[in-house]
Amino acid sequence: MRGKLPRTCNVQKETVRYGSFEGVISLSDLSRLAASVEDDKANINVTFEFYRNEIGLAVIRGKVKSSLNLNCQRCMQVMRVSIDCDFEFLLGADDGDIIASGLDNIEIENGFIDVYDLIEDELILALPLVSRHEYQDCNEYWSNQIDVDDAIEKENPFAVLAKLKGDL
Ligand SMILES: [Zn+2]
Repeated sequence: MRGKLPRTCNVQKETVRYGSFEGVISLSDLSRLAASVEDDKANINVTFEFYRNEIGLAVIRGKVKSSLNLNCQRCMQVMRVSIDCDFEFLLGADDGDIIASGLDNIEIENGFIDVYDLIEDELILALPLVSRHEYQDCNEYWSNQIDVDDAIEKENPFAVLAKLKGDL
């Protein structure tokens, strides 16, 4: 059964009952991420669950989906970036288990983890380092540039000249 989306989870309790959650976080609740995107109106769809793996380690795994407005670094207009990522972390594991499992670890504080923090980190990692439209979607100057480049690449210059003469 899926519960309502909590901000913090009691790791011991949730791993014992295989707690499973599904819900929506508002981007405005994730202040670090909200500061690096163009507007904070977006919703973030989240599912996650707790379990113990085959050697008894507590694990959280889940999915984050969203569509965020970033600034294109070429034309400075808003562009939409879809984010769809999976995560899986050990919870409060020791170094040996972290190395053996190949998973990253989330520290537990007083028995709890902050799920919003974890999801915010995942989203920040999933953002493109430099956001840019595809050429054809960028502003007119840049999309014209690519048209010219394409024409030069596709046709040899003599053919282009011949065509130009024919048009005269
Ligand atoms: Zn652009």
